[in-house]
Amino acid sequence: MILPKASKLTPEQIEEVTAIVTEFDCCIHPIVGAVRTIYAIVGDERDELMINRLEGLPYVERIDRIQSPFKLMDIRSDLSTHKITIGGTTLGEDLLVIAGQCTIDPKNPQYFYETAQAVKEAGAQVLRGGVWKPRTNPYAFQGDDRSLEILLEASRRTGLPVDTEVMDEDQLQLVIDAGVQMIQVGARNALNYSLLRQIGAAVVNRPTIVLLKRSIHMGPLNEFISAAEYIANFGNPNVILCPRGTSPAMDGYRNFPDESIVPLLKERTWAPVVVDPSHSVGKASYVPPCALAAVAYGADGLCIEAHVQPSKGIGDDPKQAVTPETLAKIIRKAKALWTLRENGDH
Ligand code: PEP
Ligand code: MN
Repeated sequence: MILPKASKLTPEQIEEVTAIVTEFDCCIHPIVGAVRTIYAIVGDERDELMINRLEGLPYVERIDRIQSPFKLMDIRSDLSTHKITIGGTTLGEDLLVIAGQCTIDPKNPQYFYETAQAVKEAGAQVLRGGVWKPRTNPYAFQGDDRSLEILLEASRRTGLPVDTEVMDEDQLQLVIDAGVQMIQVGARNALNYSLLRQIGAAVVNRPTIVLLKRSIHMGPLNEFISAAEYIANFGNPNVILCPRGTSPAMDGYRNFPDESIVPLLKERTWAPVVVDPSHSVGKASYVPPCALAAVAYGADGLCIEAHVQPSKGIGDDPKQAVTPETLAKIIRKAKALWTLRENGDH
């Protein structure tokens, strides 16, 4: 990793650096952080001669050789000061709440418009809504391209940025073209390295943020952080980690709640962590305590399924969406807990 003295290298400097690394069969990849651009050396960056020549350049501050499978997302990375901002909220500075329906019903868009307004009033800063759904049952509703327009219309009406999941390259292209602010990688695709690469490439030079769910079958935390690295190493480090419960489930819950991994993640990575209690526990009445536990564990935010009339919803909404009233209560308590936590009082 090349750390320049200035906020970025000039085109002439990039040319000189490129000429050096090419001699050693490497290439460089700019990663645009909030403070400065750093340059990943792709290839075997352990050649001492190459490092010495790079370090000798007057405009290079130093060469970072973090031995980590996720050198960009690593807590020791120069990107550890990188801040991600959405909906007026900077992660780490205030609690981020992403809320909305699991699934947009294209036949009943009015529910989504009402939900969007209601979650905004409850205090959410980002609106979520599933356009395409990864359903375990192949005969269940799979989503609908028309729902993308409903999502965008809800965003226009409320002024909220939106989050939606993509599962393939066609969907990715549609959301990129539409300017969707947050792209969700679902639990089923968190280990789909081809999709992670496609998303990484698609978000370069854009302000887009990726919400990366933890895979249902992800064990080691390094596997989770490495999945984020797959996206970030294309050049856009705006990746948020989202624990959402793993399988096998805890008896009674939909999954095995995993909000307790937050402090462990925070020892290894600077990436913000937004916990999804809805899919962890899978039932509306269990969502509030799980959400608060996540904040107590140090989460930077929450992603919660909410619906104005859960019983009229589709997908996960009838069983696990909370009402806007419950969402407002969760947000109020979570913010109070956040303040206690940040003051070191708990
Ligand atoms: C969702 O957010 O509605 C969803 C399908 O989530 P996950 O990928 O975590 O199951
Ligand atoms: Mn869902």
